[in-house]
Amino acid sequence: MKLSELTLDREGLAAAIACEDAAFEAALREEAYRVKVDTIGPEVYLRGLIEISNICVKNCLYCGIRRDIRSQRYELSEEEVLATARIATRRRFGSVVIQGGERTDAAFVRKITRLLKEIKAIDTGDAPSLGVTLSLGEQSREVYEEWFDAGAHRYLLRIESSNPDLYHKIHPNDSLHAYDRRVRALYDLKEIGYQAGTGAMIGMPFQTPEDLADDLLFYKKFDAPMVGMGPYNPHPETPLTLTGTPYPSAERRFALGLKMIALLRLLMPDINIAAATALEVLDPRGREKGLLSGANVIMPNITPEEQMVKYNLYDRKTLNASDVQDLVDRGIVIGYGRWGDSKHFQKK
Ligand code: SAH
Ligand code: SF4
Repeated sequence: MKLSELTLDREGLAAAIACEDAAFEAALREEAYRVKVDTIGPEVYLRGLIEISNICVKNCLYCGIRRDIRSQRYELSEEEVLATARIATRRRFGSVVIQGGERTDAAFVRKITRLLKEIKAIDTGDAPSLGVTLSLGEQSREVYEEWFDAGAHRYLLRIESSNPDLYHKIHPNDSLHAYDRRVRALYDLKEIGYQAGTGAMIGMPFQTPEDLADDLLFYKKFDAPMVGMGPYNPHPETPLTLTGTPYPSAERRFALGLKMIALLRLLMPDINIAAATALEVLDPRGREKGLLSGANVIMPNITPEEQMVKYNLYDRKTLNASDVQDLVDRGIVIGYGRWGDSKHFQKK
């Protein structure tokens, strides 16, 4: 396939996803990088990632911190989260993402509300207050409203797969894991006023090129101001891995991850696209390659190390994702101290 033959409809996207020709893939990535720089400039925004807890009430079949996995659970104290947020301020990251297992108990909800207020009150000197993105799963509309009022302005909730059949193959079949509920939560977030980001895993068992094309079209239809998607990385103790269902090689999943970023940049030129941590696990220069394929956001992990090693959604032994100096050294332009909202969202 040649780049000049690419069309951005379902059929064209699926053909591009299925095409494994290295020259085509490289040309596509270059084109996406060019479109990014032309549309939103070369700057990359940083979000300090704080993994607040690996306690989760859900049981997603792919996830290494699912409820039924026996592992050492942790929860950062409020003081630890605040200390970590202050590190983000000192490093001029501009914003943080608080991510964790899904919990809906009142104690947890209130803790997040308090934390949001405290983080927004951190002295940032001349810079705006720290921007806060939450990624804490499905919550009631009231809880989303409470957190929005307390200062969160972005929320990341991946659809995981836009194909309801595939969604139900990778989740237990119960009311806690319903596709329609997940879609509803995304629209709740948007209606409340959050910049609602979504995304999906790439290179999963059962997933076809058409599924991936549909994921891209889902982001477009949802009009997502930001997308964070990344390769599926198997965790050895999860049901999805243990059933032995085949999935693409690490090399293919990495190439697919970059290709999805590039295609999305062509489809939605002015949104924020994250170079996911899962890329870094597959290639030591994964984030940089993600940026050169059209992504413009990275999330350096600033979780205290003792807990970071327990937040094993998948095997990520090789990860050292907090260092951004290597990117600066290679000429990547960082938007320090800025929230980095997407141009797409600002236009509205
Ligand atoms: N509990 C929240 C947020 C934490 S999980 C939620 O699920 O929304 C964050 C993301 O990790 C999930 O959205 C999922 O896409 C990703 N993830 C989980 N297991 C994974 C795996 N084995 N490979 C790649 N990504 C995975
Ligand atoms: Fe929990 Fe999120 Fe993992 Fe699902 S993906 S088990 S909700 S942490």
